[in-house]
Amino acid sequence: MFTILVMQNDDSFADVDVGSIIDEYLNEESRPKTIGAYYPSEIGMCMRRSYYSYFIAKPTETSALRIFALGNNVHEFIAKALKESSTLAVAEEEKPIRINYQDENTKFTIYGRIDDYIETKTGKKIIIEAKSTGDITKVNEPDPKHKMQISLYLAAQKADYGLLVYADKKNLEIKQFKVEYNEEEYKKVMQRFKDLDYHLRNKILPPAEYYFDNKKVWECKYCPYYKECMQALADSNSLENYQ
Ligand code: SF4
Repeated sequence: MFTILVMQNDDSFADVDVGSIIDEYLNEESRPKTIGAYYPSEIGMCMRRSYYSYFIAKPTETSALRIFALGNNVHEFIAKALKESSTLAVAEEEKPIRINYQDENTKFTIYGRIDDYIETKTGKKIIIEAKSTGDITKVNEPDPKHKMQISLYLAAQKADYGLLVYADKKNLEIKQFKVEYNEEEYKKVMQRFKDLDYHLRNKILPPAEYYFDNKKVWECKYCPYYKECMQALADSNSLENYQ
């Protein structure tokens, strides 16, 4: 006969707190970033938020770290499945890329990692960027910031095309979108890096992009720099009223 133990939140379970152990395990050291070193995964996000992250290091909240850990598990699972697939000739995980940019005013380097780089047995080379989601039914098209990321990879690594693969964290249901290399998109992404670099080097706060975008303003609620951003907006409003 089995006894079912029902966990209760009382002192009888106080010897081990697994939640705290997980948080300790996930805890990451937050260090300020270096101006001149940029990351494809961040270039589609609100530029003001990226800007702040170079001057004000903030630890990621533990609730977010837990979500990232779940996402990483999904990525690892996809990479393993690709590596073991008999339909592929090559499956490389976490392939590093680097893009150096220089003009008369500045120079910087973009550091990225392609989630999965595969080659089919018929010789098709494909870049895969995997994203986990809480609800795949809401994913009907690629997120523009993920398209920016994969466009950059397509410029840095020879491939026939890219695949943005969304996986539901609850049931591993998959939706995938093909992304072809597009020169215009690449130029647009590089321009964003140049703009970010300009703002950082000259210490000029970029516009609060998401706050003034009806489709993205909801993300401000989760922004670690919400307080600083709102204060800067209030300061600029009072300055305008004064002038
Ligand atoms: S609060 Fe919104 S607009 Fe301001 S930095 Fe964060 S994401 Fe950008």
